[in-house]
Amino acid sequence: MSDCLFCKIGRGELGTEFLLETDGIAAFRDIHPQAPTHILVIPKKHIQSLAQLEPEDQTLMGELLLAIRELAEKEGLQDGYRVVVNTGRDGGQSVDHLHFHLLGGRSLQWPPG
Ligand code: 5GP
Ligand code: ZN
Repeated sequence: MSDCLFCKIGRGELGTEFLLETDGIAAFRDIHPQAPTHILVIPKKHIQSLAQLEPEDQTLMGELLLAIRELAEKEGLQDGYRVVVNTGRDGGQSVDHLHFHLLGGRSLQWPPG
């Protein structure tokens, strides 16, 4: 079994409350929210980052993006939101298990730092 933090969360080992869960993915609130809504959506399968994505993950990624849309609707983000996938060291990735940030509930600035 993997020691990876988000693999453990995905397996339900840390008692994390899921906002949405299927066989393939899980969504939960970020422990250090950067906006009123800050949700992380992960594949349960260990994929290190976007840079390690394989063609076989195509359906899983489609499911994940549709889940983000559903979560955004549930959170009432009709005025917009941002989806971020930090990738690798220069991308600011701190947890080496692919995750999509869903951020919303305030006006977000651009460009990021
Ligand atoms: P990254 O910097 O890799 O794009 O994003 C990792 C995110 O995971 C950060 O926003 C951080 O706050 C969040 N995070 C780190 N550890 C935990 C945890 O144990 N539980 C939850 N819910 N979020 C975490
Ligand atoms: Zn993992």
